[in-house]
Amino acid sequence: MILQQAQDLICKSRLKKSISSFLPSKRRKWKLYHNKGNLLRLAEPEKKRFQEEKFKNLLRQALNSSYYSGVLEKAGLNPDNAALEDLKKLPFLTKEIIRRQGDSLLAKSKSRLYQNASGGSTGEPIVFYQDKNYRDNVWATMMVILEMCGWYYGARIARIWGAPQDKRRFRTLRGRLIYFFQNTRFYDSFNMSEENMLKYHYDMTKHRPDIIICYASSVYLLAKLLKEKGLMPSYPSISINTSAETLLPHMRSTVTEVFGREIYDKYGSREISGIACECSAHRGLHVFEDNVILECLDPLTGEDVYEKPGELVVTDLNNLGMPFIRYRIGDMGVISRERCPCGRNTLMLKKVSGRITDNFYLKNGRIVHGEYFTHLFYGKRGIKNFRFIQNREDDFLLHIVKDTDYAEDCLKQIVCDIKKVIGENTVLKVEFKDKIPDTATGKYRFTVSKVKKGCL
Ligand SMILES: [Zn+2]
Repeated sequence: MILQQAQDLICKSRLKKSISSFLPSKRRKWKLYHNKGNLLRLAEPEKKRFQEEKFKNLLRQALNSSYYSGVLEKAGLNPDNAALEDLKKLPFLTKEIIRRQGDSLLAKSKSRLYQNASGGSTGEPIVFYQDKNYRDNVWATMMVILEMCGWYYGARIARIWGAPQDKRRFRTLRGRLIYFFQNTRFYDSFNMSEENMLKYHYDMTKHRPDIIICYASSVYLLAKLLKEKGLMPSYPSISINTSAETLLPHMRSTVTEVFGREIYDKYGSREISGIACECSAHRGLHVFEDNVILECLDPLTGEDVYEKPGELVVTDLNNLGMPFIRYRIGDMGVISRERCPCGRNTLMLKKVSGRITDNFYLKNGRIVHGEYFTHLFYGKRGIKNFRFIQNREDDFLLHIVKDTDYAEDCLKQIVCDIKKVIGENTVLKVEFKDKIPDTATGKYRFTVSKVKKGCL
């Protein structure tokens, strides 16, 4: 407890904040952060002008990529004269194009970019690149999102999280130092057994976080367990920030009932982070229109739709290293032009559907988040697509669609990693397919568990 108090003192100190804002690596991020709050309140004409300038800049950079220079030429678009409406002249960017075009999408030298990869609960696994401008904006947006959730400088944060790259970072000395100075504790959402969840609960009871950042289903699982056991959490003191999955109404009500705190949902992906976040009015998610142009398109006509479900298509205005223009992110949603009473002047994302990940209930009592398995495929090149299915507690099936550069060793490693989690005494069959169909909802799912225990 003394150590925690000392950590609080350091994390909340003005000195730390001053040093942080003067560090050359942080100065630009802080500036972006201070601007972002104001950008959400710009009047319509200014907002449009701001977006258009960023859009033009994105197109200018895109000319450096061999793929996009061809696309722009075909569309007859000159970046200097482009208007926001010209976006519609450009074709969609799909995961398939990213896979096929690879480096020809890059607008900057690879040495200046950060590699990232995604699978997620939907879509196909892809490798892509992001630049410093994108990363700085992600940092600044995260600060604004936290602020919208009631965060203050130095507040204690608990992360119930599982992305392996984030976990790996946490285990390094540098990562530990970063999390120490962010006053953050980490809890593994890929290992939500009853025993572990109780450990997390007791640790958080001691640590008393102000804000919990988590996957929607992880905090829901924890809330359900605490309710069953009659345990009343005394944390967090401020709010809960969920992401990565659809926060269904029954999940929201259970979590709110158990923790007695408001939930703030946010929307983004590995490819394009910081798309939208909820404010305290809870009337939908504010779209960060300084980061993205978000379209919602009628699946039949391709026309813009408001107030009714459509396909979400995102243009990232920040990643100038590998432009994502009209990216089919793989989610359906509802966009509204209704204004929020909080005064922020943005489009509202009323609903996102399709981000559903199953939890896996294993014979050994562990509950593993479905994303654990999708993460095993991150950056693995010879596999075009896959689906991991749990038929019974000890019976699993892996469907694989091979890519042209398929190598058996890569699959062996994945199977070995899966076995470590599901246990050696289980059946894991691998079947090769030409194509894996969408699920009945029309939505592709990477992981499907047929073992239900009353959750989700
Ligand atoms: Zn609002």
